[in-house]
Amino acid sequence: MLSDITSLHSSLKQSGTRGIALDIDETLSHTVLYWFSRMQTLFGNPEDLSVEDMIRKYRYSYHVPYWQTPEVDEWIAVQLHSNQVQEELPVIKGATEGVNKINETIPVVAYLTARPDSVQDGTRTWLTMHGFPEVPLITRPPYVVPQQGNTWKAAVLSHIQDHVVGIIDDNPGLVEKLDEAYTGTVFLYDYSDTVNSSAEVISCKNWDAVVDAVISKYSGSGKT
Ligand SMILES: [Mg+2]
Repeated sequence: MLSDITSLHSSLKQSGTRGIALDIDETLSHTVLYWFSRMQTLFGNPEDLSVEDMIRKYRYSYHVPYWQTPEVDEWIAVQLHSNQVQEELPVIKGATEGVNKINETIPVVAYLTARPDSVQDGTRTWLTMHGFPEVPLITRPPYVVPQQGNTWKAAVLSHIQDHVVGIIDDNPGLVEKLDEAYTGTVFLYDYSDTVNSSAEVISCKNWDAVVDAVISKYSGSGKT
């Protein structure tokens, strides 16, 4: 909701805090692992790939050519809005420890996710269950369609960049949507290639690499 973004921004401004935001899906939760294993059973696996190989090959369900059908879209829409599904997602190995370690160097001030507003409850339950910090959760409002998730997220990041100076996120599609004036840093989780961008993008192949990159970038800062 817009009011969530405004209140996050003004409270950071008031306390003079500079911090970073966290994405959730594929950064903290292994959502694709859960989805792909269910989707292989429900919608077929003509290449006979293991779930892990399929993730390696396609990364996201919208890249899997034989899953682009109305039936699949309908199933996805139900999962996206299910609080129960969010609570069942596996946590990514090292994410909890990594986030809490980072929090000692620069405050984690928000979760910024393209998940819809409707799954705030399930998402909060999951974050608490897995030991992540209790900070504001910014979710995608109903007037933004899922396909515009990265565009919306990039716009939010630009809007709050004076106090939210970076994000840990897995999606190179987000980087493409950042405007040229964006001054923050994107720590691109689970990514090894270099990214062509006017923004500072640091590819981090695992959570240990994220922790190292964030600490080396921000040690000694945190307050304005
Ligand atoms: Mg993500």
